[in-house]
Amino acid sequence: MSDESGCIFCKIIAGEIPCFGLREDDETIAFMDINPVTRGHALVIHKAHHRDLFAIPAENAAAVTRAAQAVARAVQATLQPEGLNLLQCNGPAAKQSVMHFHMHVIPRNIGDGLTMNWDLVQGDMEAIGALAERIRNNM
Ligand code: 5GP
Ligand code: ZN
Repeated sequence: MSDESGCIFCKIIAGEIPCFGLREDDETIAFMDINPVTRGHALVIHKAHHRDLFAIPAENAAAVTRAAQAVARAVQATLQPEGLNLLQCNGPAAKQSVMHFHMHVIPRNIGDGLTMNWDLVQGDMEAIGALAERIRNNM
């Protein structure tokens, strides 16, 4: 494990920072991204702090991937997007901004204009919370 002091995702795991939670199991939690690049953008993380793909044990990464599949299915059932990306970023050139391994679940639609590197723009919290409830209902 690398340094978890000050890690925003460790604070979410500890309940020190709120989130719109979607799913939790022994190893992982999933919640809505508050700067969604598309409607329904969610994140899945392991409860143990590891910086990135190079640091995380394979079995922990596998647990995150299993959880991401469950979240993707619920997002798909809720929003019926035309596509969906799983994305995982490592290092500055890949635009990793939170140094705690995580998987993005990103619903996609043709013409949504999403490019690979995006700026963080805060979303409408009321709308994100309402959507989280709809996705949870499909979990
Ligand atoms: P990265 O750029 O590291 O691949 O992705 C980190 C993601 O975490 C970004 O999409 C960003 O919007 C999200 N994020 C950062 N801080 C918070 C937070 O406090 N709460 C939630 N729900 N998401 C966050
Ligand atoms: Zn962390």
